[in-house]
Amino acid sequence: MTDMPALSNLSAIDAAHHLHPFSDMKKLNAAGTRIIDRAEGVYIFDSTGRMYLDAFAGLWCVNVGYGRKEISDAAYRQMQDLPYYNTFFGTTTPPATLLAQKIASHAGGKLNRVFFTNSGSEANDTWFRMARVYWRALGKPEKTQVIARRNAYHGSTVAGASLGGMKWMHEQGNLPIAGISHINQPYWYAEGGDLTPAEFGLKVARELEERIEELGEDNVAAFVAEPIQGAGGVIIPPDTYWPEIARICRERNVLLVSDEVICGFGRLGTWFGHQHYGVEPDLAPIAKGLSSGYLPIGGVMVSDRVADVMVEELGDFYHGFTYSGHPVCAAAALENLRIIEEEGLVERVRDDIGPYFAAAWKSLEDHEVVGEAESVGLMGGLQLAADKSTRRRYAKPDDIGTLVRNHCIDNGLIMRATGDRMLASPALTISRAEVDEVTDKLRKALDHLRDTVRE
Ligand code: PMP
Repeated sequence: MTDMPALSNLSAIDAAHHLHPFSDMKKLNAAGTRIIDRAEGVYIFDSTGRMYLDAFAGLWCVNVGYGRKEISDAAYRQMQDLPYYNTFFGTTTPPATLLAQKIASHAGGKLNRVFFTNSGSEANDTWFRMARVYWRALGKPEKTQVIARRNAYHGSTVAGASLGGMKWMHEQGNLPIAGISHINQPYWYAEGGDLTPAEFGLKVARELEERIEELGEDNVAAFVAEPIQGAGGVIIPPDTYWPEIARICRERNVLLVSDEVICGFGRLGTWFGHQHYGVEPDLAPIAKGLSSGYLPIGGVMVSDRVADVMVEELGDFYHGFTYSGHPVCAAAALENLRIIEEEGLVERVRDDIGPYFAAAWKSLEDHEVVGEAESVGLMGGLQLAADKSTRRRYAKPDDIGTLVRNHCIDNGLIMRATGDRMLASPALTISRAEVDEVTDKLRKALDHLRDTVRE
């Protein structure tokens, strides 16, 4: 290992040299960064030796938990055999090819090909070009418009951030780029008014049909959505939503894109999120759980509908990354998928720990500051509410969420807040006792919010 300065100095070095993603650097430098230097199972440790239960699996990605020596060994072996070769000029490497096959075997149905990227953002930029190229190859070059959703997150690259529906991101960098528009999200608690969740699900799904009408069917290439909107606050759609979206895409000849970057690889108790909702996308960006975050790798799963045109009609697709299908990342991903298969983690989420987590999470609904606590598999969203009987929200949602999140962290639980929603997305290996630890600590943080607001 290279010489490391004492951990106590790292904060100052960090402040001097390191710009962090999605961070107010002035505030961060004043507060000092938390230095994480070790992890095992679902626990992470900071440089002072404090231990935290990571109920967020890193950034929704460490699906098999930390400290899996099998994955580091697989990466090490591959690095020694062949640390790098590209997949551009008529070549491939064994791990890249075998990983594409493995992913296709779990996608089922018609998603039989994979185009590799390094990240989820690049995966979104990749399908964005692919969708347009597909229609052009079919003699419909005017089918270029893409419809996405408000409050969605699809990455930080130019197309990714444009597809995302976060206004505060658009304000930085003059986004969205041309050809992308947004419709409402299926966020019943905040936006459902007097409709039942089922009615609201249909209403917001039909906004897609209205937008296609406005733009003209012949101009629309694709619609993209996360099965469950993640960074936006774990917005779980009513059951009526996805079947209606699928119907509209089918009838209007618009490609359906399911962003599986979070929901893929077991999080919802199915290999992919669209399987939970019983819909079949034409394109599906993936990343995160593909390697459980051990090394960066992403991709786009491509259906026969699109791939057949690309293979038979297009000729060259002028798109790719130096590290598309990087052999070491692919070897780590293969080992990660082997673990998920052999330990039956998807089935565990569906039949065992998912239902256990759902019951524990739901039990928080009896708390007076909780409007709703919903989950699918191991993805939970908890709505804080000022008055649960009327669904009235707190006046300063960001402050409220931050208060609860900070209380959790101070008590050894890593949680995330989006506005006034608390989010959980633990490793698929989390034990029942660890689930109890999550909900016990979160309940104490909710007590703290109740007591603070009263004061
Ligand atoms: N899509 C979704 C649904 C995501 O949650 C994310 C990341 N949180 C991305 C895309 C972007 O992935 P990455 O950060 O790997 O670029």
